Amino acid sequence: MLKRLVGRTSLISKFSFSTNESTDISVRDSIHRLIDRASMYTRIPGSFIDGLKKCSHVLELSIPLKKDNGQLAVFEAYRAHHSIHALPLKGGIRFAPNMRLADIEGVAALMTLKMACADIPYGGAHGGISVDPSSLSVLEQERLARAYAKELIKSGFMGPSIDVPGPDIGTDGRTMAWIMDEFLKIAPDVTEGLAAVTGKPEAAGGIAGRKEAAGLGFYFALKNFLEDEELVEPLELTKELKGKKIIIQGFGNVGYHVSKFLSENGKAKIIGVLDQNGGVYKATGLDITALKTYYDENKTLKGFTEGKHFDNPEDVLSKTCDIFIPAASENTITVNNSHLLKCKIVAEAANLPLSIKAEENLIKNGVAILPDIIMNSGGVISSYFEYVKNIGHISPEKLTKRWELKSNEKILQFLARILGTEVQNSDLQVASDLEIVNNALEDIIQNSVKTAKKTSKLYSISYKDAAYVNALNRIYENLRYSSHYA
Ligand code: GLU
Repeated sequence: MLKRLVGRTSLISKFSFSTNESTDISVRDSIHRLIDRASMYTRIPGSFIDGLKKCSHVLELSIPLKKDNGQLAVFEAYRAHHSIHALPLKGGIRFAPNMRLADIEGVAALMTLKMACADIPYGGAHGGISVDPSSLSVLEQERLARAYAKELIKSGFMGPSIDVPGPDIGTDGRTMAWIMDEFLKIAPDVTEGLAAVTGKPEAAGGIAGRKEAAGLGFYFALKNFLEDEELVEPLELTKELKGKKIIIQGFGNVGYHVSKFLSENGKAKIIGVLDQNGGVYKATGLDITALKTYYDENKTLKGFTEGKHFDNPEDVLSKTCDIFIPAASENTITVNNSHLLKCKIVAEAANLPLSIKAEENLIKNGVAILPDIIMNSGGVISSYFEYVKNIGHISPEKLTKRWELKSNEKILQFLARILGTEVQNSDLQVASDLEIVNNALEDIIQNSVKTAKKTSKLYSISYKDAAYVNALNRIYENLRYSSHYA
């Protein structure tokens, strides 16, 4: 039954689940609360919603590694399969210290929702190894990644029709290539091996633009959200990205590419960048290319002289801006620091960066939240393109060249149909895989934003709840026709 609808401003009191927030809040707790909150605006039975809170399968491992110096070290590792309503499952592999199963299960559930929101036909998964990769040599990292992959394969937790991992924090194309290579050792054919992992370098079967996709998808999503008068007018903002003052938390693959596309394509001003060790600030806007070069060389923001450096990241986090972008990891904004933010919009580039209480406090203060499951969906959407390419051996650019097609419009139409998108401009003379996938990415993100806006207006709920409502409805719709239940 559809529950009583409430206006946007009354949401807080109705859904204040917690007055005090544990400092130990897990991603799994947060995602359960978000699911409960959104389910109020669906007709989905409560028993189904409860079922969605559990992971289908969870693998816990101990992986021994012989270090380069001959000593033995043992690492905890995990993989959680959230919902098998759609197969394969998909989600990142993370190498980070202090990983907890409760967070991993939460991110796996978030992946299910993220892909449902984009209408990608996968279930969610997540996992990784509790390790600080910078404490290992490259050879040690490779041996550990391969050992982890071997365990996943042996346990039936990986494969092109089971679970297709992609990159996440602390892993990259190189890690994915090692994992693919491990799979190829047991795979009956190359197609299977290629499609068992995404986020691979192009030379190893990856797709153009995968590395940039989370940032580019974020840029498309932000541009589309800003076009909504109901968002910008109450906040006294204009619709243009140009000139908007932005502060970014995190300067890894996502944070950097978000900064790059917002400043280069959107002409926004990135006035602050922070990581856990400090931050840089420049009121007129930082030179993101120069900052990236410096950060890659020095692994720190400290010492970058084209902006003012602060040892305490909170000194940058608390500067006035239009849009604050948490792009680091989960729960980086909690009750302990949310009161410091002086922005009109928080656009979530990381998975679940806001604790529930922090989110409630921000909304209470009139801050609009743009939801993670749309804002950072670019990475996994691009992974989906890579999977389709690997399974079908389709490279639009190569096909065009092979048959010397004058225009590859037909290929574009064909690929768009496979990817489930529409070609908006039929005159488009697309030359490369990159243009084709970026075009499709923009299409899918545009659609997610459009449907979130529609649901938000229909029920007078936040964009965040609206995106979760759309995702839940889609999962329910898929499941009604499956033999998922015993
Ligand atoms: N780690 C990425 C995410 O959280 C994507 C993982 C993938 O491509 O499978 O969305």
